[in-house]
Amino acid sequence: MDIGSLQQVVSYQSMQQLKIKRLLQISGSTLSGLLLALVFASGGVKLIILAGCVMLVLSAILAFYQHPLSSAYILLWSMTLMLTALAFYSGGIRDLAVLGFPGVLVFAAILGDLSLFVSLLTAILLSCCALVSLDIYGWYHPHIPKTAWNSLVYVAVILSVSGFSVYLLSRDLHRLMKALQQENIRVHDSQAELIRLTQHDALTGLPNRTTAEPMFKQLLGECQQRGERLVLLFLDLDYFKPVNDALGHSAGDLLLQQLADRLRNELAPRDYICRFGGDEFLLLLPGIVTDAEVIARAERILLQTSQHFQLMQTQVEISGSLGISVVPRDGVDFAPLLKRADMAMFQAKTSGRNIWRFYDEVMDKANVDKFNLLQKLRVALKEQQFQLYYQPKINLQTGLIDSAEALVRWPQADGSFIAPQDFIGLCEESGLINELGYWVLVEACKACRRWQLHGYPDMTIAVNLSFVQFRDGLLEAKVQQALREAQLPAAALELELTESLLIGEGDNISRQLAQLGGLGVSFAIDDFGTGYSNLGYLRRFNATTLKIDKSFIHSLCMSDRDEPLVHAIIQMGHSLGLKIVAEGVEDAATLERLKLLGCDSAQGYYWSKPVAEAEFLKLLASRRQ
Ligand code: C2E
Ligand code: CA
Ligand code: CA
Repeated sequence: MDIGSLQQVVSYQSMQQLKIKRLLQISGSTLSGLLLALVFASGGVKLIILAGCVMLVLSAILAFYQHPLSSAYILLWSMTLMLTALAFYSGGIRDLAVLGFPGVLVFAAILGDLSLFVSLLTAILLSCCALVSLDIYGWYHPHIPKTAWNSLVYVAVILSVSGFSVYLLSRDLHRLMKALQQENIRVHDSQAELIRLTQHDALTGLPNRTTAEPMFKQLLGECQQRGERLVLLFLDLDYFKPVNDALGHSAGDLLLQQLADRLRNELAPRDYICRFGGDEFLLLLPGIVTDAEVIARAERILLQTSQHFQLMQTQVEISGSLGISVVPRDGVDFAPLLKRADMAMFQAKTSGRNIWRFYDEVMDKANVDKFNLLQKLRVALKEQQFQLYYQPKINLQTGLIDSAEALVRWPQADGSFIAPQDFIGLCEESGLINELGYWVLVEACKACRRWQLHGYPDMTIAVNLSFVQFRDGLLEAKVQQALREAQLPAAALELELTESLLIGEGDNISRQLAQLGGLGVSFAIDDFGTGYSNLGYLRRFNATTLKIDKSFIHSLCMSDRDEPLVHAIIQMGHSLGLKIVAEGVEDAATLERLKLLGCDSAQGYYWSKPVAEAEFLKLLASRRQ
């Protein structure tokens, strides 16, 4: 809306200026009329008109010096008094001067305030009353002048002065009405624009999710009348986040815009599409008859999604996972149908991406549980429901706690915890681990810094990393950021990696590990012994620590078979210059065995389970004594 022009119309300031202008014009024109009348007047009339002229000059001066209301009072009162005096002096109620009263009242209504108008009206009525009653009771004898040419002059002056002034004022009113009318149209237009904006996604120009349900209802009504099916397609992009992270948000935006254009071109006239969320789109396709048609449409959409995008200088390829639910087969209500399409999309995602899936009522329970858990995880991340626990690592030579492993905890409303094994995998599958892992990293570094500042300057912290966190190529920057945010020296951070990660992914990972090593952080190989147990690659990655998996430690005192194995690992590790940590130590006998075997450090329930930070600080204090 053009606020400026609205302000102009209603601006008090500009209205005052206009009033002043009109007051000057009216007093000017009245003055010239009176001067003309003065030529033809004589005797008392001349005196009265002269007095009127003086007052008009005064009114004009007041207007000129920005006192419009006082000016209006003086102008209109002097005109009223002058006209009344003229009437008394000459023809009484039948005098020509009476012709001027309506004009005075019109000016008062437009230029003055209510009290001016009311007082003038009262005064005019009273003087008319006086003129008439005095005449009737014979206390006063008007002398109606004979008709002469000067009467014509008076009438002409009165009519033209009041006519001119009324014309000016009514033209102002017309203009004001017109401006208001235009403003009204503008307000209407901008309201419509506002509604359009709230219903559309600014980036892609597609309708946003608020329009989905009303549109669904409308199409459902049409389809039910015609006996057609209505298909919901839920499209979620694969690998969109890495594009955003690696090439920047403007590249991500460009991709979404290009994709929106492609999808728009895929629509039949009655189809509907909206941007449902960040990289999610919902399509409603009415009028499809067979599943084969649905599949054909789904495949075209996936094809559009998987064709390469030109983002500035870079060519990017992504894909989409598409979930399908169908009215009436899967229901007729929007919310459950949407959930079903979403679940089907999730199935598509877990079965390998770049594919479509129909919602299947017998979708196996495990997948439904997984889907529900994923929704819960998303909320948990958004609401920061996670906590970090710390398990001490004991230096077996000194018996002191010199480090801690940070382990994530997901508390539930009933006080229980969902174990990391039950959600880390899903976080990895869905990519949520990037966000969760970064949160863990920052929190762990901050906690370690606090301990260092509270009397444990040599404390270090170990953080578990998932292989997924290496995918977007931003790990080094994130670690650097976390260290900076916590003001923790890089040497105090140890990253725990699993063997499979080191073997599986080749160059990309080695490059990032080298960069991380360059920062000064160290690496530990976690769960050693459960995978390839190949020490050869350890050198390449500059690992400093080997953590023997707890399954070997548990059976150390129970089976004769594991002791030589643990012994061999420790010896081999030492010969490569690695520090050996045993995890899962639960009793004194195991501890003694490990000491005999030359193990450097250990962690386990024997000392403490992973605990919250307050508890961990107590442990630190007690073990120091
Ligand atoms: P992990 O890295 O091998 O962590 C050690 C696990 O062994 C922890 O289980 C710990 O509570 C448990 N543990 C420690 N001492 C003993 C003991 O004496 N006896 C027994 N039976 N268990 C012991 P938790 O906390 O349930 O974590 C399980 C796994 O979840 C971790 O295994 C790790 O792979 C993963 N995890 C936990 N937090 C994170 C995280 O922040 N990021 C990533 N990527 N993974 C995490
Ligand atoms: Ca670990
Ligand atoms: Ca482990």
